[in-house]
Amino acid sequence: MQQGRLFDIQHFGVHDGPGIRTLVFFKGCPLRCLWCCNPESHSPDEQIRYVDFKCKACFQCVNVCPYQGITPLDESVKIDFVQCTTCLKKSCLDACNHGTLNLTGYTISAEKLIKIIGKDSAFYRNSGGGVTFTGGEPLSQPEFLGKILRKCKKAGIHTAIETCGYCSQAVLKEIIPLVDLFLFDIKIIDPEKHRKYTGKSNQLILENLTYLSTQKKRIIIRFPLIPGITDTDQNINDVILLLKKLGLVEIDLEPYHGLGIAKYEELGMEYLLHGIAGDSGYPIDRLRQIEDFFIPF
Ligand code: SF4
Ligand code: SF4
Repeated sequence: MQQGRLFDIQHFGVHDGPGIRTLVFFKGCPLRCLWCCNPESHSPDEQIRYVDFKCKACFQCVNVCPYQGITPLDESVKIDFVQCTTCLKKSCLDACNHGTLNLTGYTISAEKLIKIIGKDSAFYRNSGGGVTFTGGEPLSQPEFLGKILRKCKKAGIHTAIETCGYCSQAVLKEIIPLVDLFLFDIKIIDPEKHRKYTGKSNQLILENLTYLSTQKKRIIIRFPLIPGITDTDQNINDVILLLKKLGLVEIDLEPYHGLGIAKYEELGMEYLLHGIAGDSGYPIDRLRQIEDFFIPF
């Protein structure tokens, strides 16, 4: 039975493709964009998440950890994410009755997932919607993605994927016929800056987008506006040149927000982009200016 790993399924989405959509979040991503607001999507593995403000300091979790991964503090506990192996027993989760310790990520069969997706069929029909596979990176689990996409096609459900484009071209070619809409992220055109801020070269991504643009599929480019990183005049001009060269005419601008920052600490990860302009909302005047650049599209 084909199984995949997800970290969330959301219903009634309206921003990630046409109509009302079910959003399926895949766990695991090859990129490490410093501004990522879904750090729980990075690792393909299950992870313990500790939501500090919910802790009642009952210390029921402390002694059950076989790896001494939990230390009592005055009014909470400290999780040692190096000691924690996300062990099979996960006794800490059973011990905590306050929703403070949670597991992020779960496996699911394609059969079960299509049943969940199918329950929203009436909304798809009435709104022109469908399902959007996002993440994380859906193409990082190509066999599972292919299987669920085939089931959606068979059921007549409109399919979209949001992708960072970092996958082998063989994987992309396999998936293209099964997808109605690609939401394709383009972040930085300068190769060195791309590597610096996302952890990976953009060569494969640009090659994949170039190939995809020849395949008569609907493509919407998603362009995150990260102050001083992606939203520089130089990068915006480079993105515009790329879109013109490939004949792509649809673009979504995605202004930076810091809404995912707390999740880094909850997962024992470090957020490295503190203090950039826009932490408390992307500057609206700069957004208007950038929208003007893209008006010809
Ligand atoms: S998941 Fe296992 S190793 Fe990690 S804190 Fe809980 S009991 Fe300890
Ligand atoms: S069991 Fe839950 S509420 Fe109690 S100390 Fe541990 S994390 Fe906090």
